[in-house]
Amino acid sequence: MDPFAYYTELTTRDGDRTLLWPNARTLLASKVFLDALSADVLRAMPEDVRQRLEDQVYVGKFPTGDFNAQALRVPGGGYVFLINVGLMMLIYDAAKVVFSQAAWQAGKRWTVGSPRTELQMIETAFKADGDSSTTDDNAHVLSFDAAAKRLQESIRSYVRHSEWHPASDPEHFVIQGRSQTEVLTTLVEAAERFVVAHEFAHAMLGHLENAATALLAVPQGKQPIYELQKTWMDEIAADANAVILLIFGAPRQLENPSERLLFEMALAGPLFFLAVGGLIEEETAEKPRTHPPAVQRRQALREWLSKKLPQPAFSLADCSVQMLEQLWRSRASGA
Ligand SMILES: [Zn+2]
Repeated sequence: MDPFAYYTELTTRDGDRTLLWPNARTLLASKVFLDALSADVLRAMPEDVRQRLEDQVYVGKFPTGDFNAQALRVPGGGYVFLINVGLMMLIYDAAKVVFSQAAWQAGKRWTVGSPRTELQMIETAFKADGDSSTTDDNAHVLSFDAAAKRLQESIRSYVRHSEWHPASDPEHFVIQGRSQTEVLTTLVEAAERFVVAHEFAHAMLGHLENAATALLAVPQGKQPIYELQKTWMDEIAADANAVILLIFGAPRQLENPSERLLFEMALAGPLFFLAVGGLIEEETAEKPRTHPPAVQRRQALREWLSKKLPQPAFSLADCSVQMLEQLWRSRASGA
């Protein structure tokens, strides 16, 4: 059976495609989107590995209820990766809240690799509400307290329902300014690409070949689904290799601000994703873990990357994660 046929079988019953998707447009949108992310990740692989995996894997949307994606074995060969698209909506929510607190300044220089590769980075500075020194467009989009409240509501709602729900808070806000919008959407996309790359990394590293299976707990369980089990060491290795795929997929010349941004995002997306995962885990009652705690994964990834890249490469990653945690802690202590 080919991976797509198997995926279709898992996600439909009696030919009813509406079981998991509210409408055909949602299905199509997520398919196009996940196909594009998979293509990005495959493009970053060495030719022989790409050829081996290209037809062997199908990446599909599925409400796993967990913040980690899951890999399944297709009877007769190949794999299906299930990606929780609801989680992506939560990542977008969280990133938007964080970037409502951001101000941008361009111009600081940093270097990576050889001294000749001088990069001009976009320095991201987060300023707490009330800091009058900021002249940024977003200064009053959302106050610090309102942002903290909104972040907490998003995370709690996701944990309560085991899936993403639109915020109950009717207060809408938009992120203004071209650079802000670009950074926000690029960060979310990098986080999503990381999730797909993490599963491909398991396949590349041979983690799926002899893996045992375990029943996957699905909130809207239709039929039993068996995910492939990996060790915690495998998870850490898959995280590191996923970032390598993201960096290889990013432009190598880094000559203009957008290209540099994509490179920084290859680090910021994964670290931000794992930081949100940490908040979800903090909010979730104890349950069996298939992956090491997100906090531990983020720490391991950050430490490993720190040995390979200069500190300024992490500027965007570190300040977005710090702001996320600052917003989260302020609610936890003030509530
Ligand atoms: Zn994994």
